[in-house]
Amino acid sequence: MIELTSIPDLKGWVRSRRREGRRIGLVPTMGFLHEGHLALVDEAKRRADVVLMTIFVNPLQFGPTEDLSRYPRDLARDRRLASSRGVEAIFVPSEAVMYPPGSEIRVIPGRSADRWEGAARPGHFAGVLTVVAKLFHLVEPDVACFGRKDVQQAVLIRQMVRDLDWPLELAVVPTVREPDGLALSSRNAYLDPEQRKRAVALSGALQEAHVAWRGGERSAKAIEERARRYLDAYPDIQVEYLAVAEPEALEPVQEVQATTVVAVAARVGLTRLIDNVVLGEGVA
Ligand code: AMP
Repeated sequence: MIELTSIPDLKGWVRSRRREGRRIGLVPTMGFLHEGHLALVDEAKRRADVVLMTIFVNPLQFGPTEDLSRYPRDLARDRRLASSRGVEAIFVPSEAVMYPPGSEIRVIPGRSADRWEGAARPGHFAGVLTVVAKLFHLVEPDVACFGRKDVQQAVLIRQMVRDLDWPLELAVVPTVREPDGLALSSRNAYLDPEQRKRAVALSGALQEAHVAWRGGERSAKAIEERARRYLDAYPDIQVEYLAVAEPEALEPVQEVQATTVVAVAARVGLTRLIDNVVLGEGVA
């Protein structure tokens, strides 16, 4: 596996792969890799000939009071995991490479960013779309893979690809979970053992919503209530939002269908976690 840190080197690598006629799959990450990230690699391998992973903790998508400086990092371990999963190259740029002095232009998301994560984290999605747009331009991937774990991010990237006419294929990969249901996340590293046990309540609440759906419940309000009541049993878990929304733009709905998304953001201690489920599928 080759490690690239500069834009000229990245472009050189991309040019060589193109000359060989190979399809390039892009997997953007912030590193501290886990099986969720590696599932994106597997999907990229299925859809392309070579996989390029990017590892960049993007400061633009962190608010001033968020966890940018303490975000977990372990590049040596990331190298090992990516390489053993068949990643051909990693792009690990510094902040100065991605945002040289004077770089001020941002990609502004549409209305789908006004609610849920976007409301809780002002500016977050402009930061996400800006870095993803840069990576799309630099790599011109044939396919780019993202996780359904960050469902609103996936929705907004799909809208950006559509609205800015990007000639690429998007793959959105189902959420990879711990055996007890907790969605894998680099931020799970912040949880102490007690918090880790309680964090399973997020996926538990989503599964509760799924069970209500399976039992014939079709009212979004009732589904939301079921999930909320489930979380109420955990007094030290603070719910930020519980969304019951359609999958295209995450607009709230009144009546649910199999494709309706139920998404949750909550704090377990100081750690902010998110998760979601497609109602008809449940937490697999
Ligand atoms: P991050 O490093 O947290 O920015 O995540 C990089 C990519 O991995 C994003 O597309 C995420 O949606 C995806 N991802 C993160 N966690 C998971 C998971 N548990 N299952 C599947 N994909 C995930």
